Amino acid sequence: MAGQRNKQMHDEGQRFVTAVVANGAGEIFDLAGYAAVGADGPLQMPLSPAQTQNLPHGSELMFLPDRVPLVYDLRQGRVLALPENPQAPGEAIFPVAAFNSPGYMLTHTCAYEERPRAGFLPLFSYGAVGWHRGRFRSAVLQVDDEPRQDLRQMPLDKIKAGVKRMRRRLPDNRLRAHLEKCALTYGCPAGKNFFLGRYEAPLPASPACNARCLGCISLQSEGAMPCSQERIAFTPSPEEIAGVALAHIESVPNAVVSFGQGCEGDPLMVADTLCSAIRMIRARTRLGTINMNTNGSLPSKMEPLLAAGLDSVRISMNSIRQAFYEAYYRPKGYRWQQVLDTIDLALARGAHVAINYLNCPGFTDTPGERDALLVFLQTHPIQMIQWRNLNFDPLRYLAIMGQVGDSGRPVGVQALFETVRGSLPRLGHGYFNPPREKF
Ligand code: SF4
Repeated sequence: MAGQRNKQMHDEGQRFVTAVVANGAGEIFDLAGYAAVGADGPLQMPLSPAQTQNLPHGSELMFLPDRVPLVYDLRQGRVLALPENPQAPGEAIFPVAAFNSPGYMLTHTCAYEERPRAGFLPLFSYGAVGWHRGRFRSAVLQVDDEPRQDLRQMPLDKIKAGVKRMRRRLPDNRLRAHLEKCALTYGCPAGKNFFLGRYEAPLPASPACNARCLGCISLQSEGAMPCSQERIAFTPSPEEIAGVALAHIESVPNAVVSFGQGCEGDPLMVADTLCSAIRMIRARTRLGTINMNTNGSLPSKMEPLLAAGLDSVRISMNSIRQAFYEAYYRPKGYRWQQVLDTIDLALARGAHVAINYLNCPGFTDTPGERDALLVFLQTHPIQMIQWRNLNFDPLRYLAIMGQVGDSGRPVGVQALFETVRGSLPRLGHGYFNPPREKF
């Protein structure tokens, strides 16, 4: 009888990936007899090997303090909260989540319950992770396979050589000096790529923003969460911006240069400066793709940028529905309609338009959000969705969105992705801003 039970448990163990937890010292280990659980909003399910992939290279594992892991007990056949290590009674255990590499969209978040004194989690995404056949497995969908931000391709000696080269080319340029700090102190992959002379170079320029996103990584005025990036404190001159952009465009095939980075406010706030910079770039070359990542709040500011030669626009949003959008972005002096107006304007002017769609399983894949997305895509025929993970405490986010309204029972991120792909076969999907050679 016991032998039969053990065999049954072994078979179950093969069907699912094993739970991974941490002790109070942050040591991560797998828990035999328990399967990893992924959360899709209120749905909590044991994860199978087919629902997971090997943890992408460059991903990081984080243990979540003041929280209790949810695991699937193979013996009992149910999900339960497990505050203590069953193999070492009395030892507290904590959930472990994956912060996945760029190019991978979460299908499930880490499943856990908060202990009473839990505060907000820092501004990362918290993907479900488990262990199977000697490897960590992550609940993700790959949406972009370009190695643009693959850290293996960013050797420090080459970055330092690029820093020296750029110091010689742009000795008095404050933006170049700012990017050195980004690349060498903060380890920013976009900053590194500028000095490595590959793909996309960042052009941060705006110290201000007209939104107050709950998860803004460069400014948190309410103090509940630390920022993960330091916001640029000055606006470079048009000459400085054009100098950095041209240094990149003139030496990199299919180069992209982008306004609107994690370390700044919104670039539309300094649109006049950027307009002058774009004119300087375009007076010298037609090469390269000039892109702007923005909240898209000010169509009147976007108009001259497009006229000056802005090639592509990526507009960020957590939701396609006004009330949910405004609950997260907390706009100051603009409304959702202006974001739509900016999208329509950029499309009418022939720019490539993408949305940076901030995914949180349990909200993004609800019927309410999915249906709004499908209507939006029909009425605003953008070229691309960049599927990005929302960097915000998932339980707190779902609670905030839940206060705005009920969006229905999640259908699954994979199912959402397939529905969108099937409904709009010409729509592009990815993670990075494409060069115009790929528009
Ligand atoms: S739009 Fe960007 S810079 Fe502005 S508050 Fe939101 S995340 Fe921060």
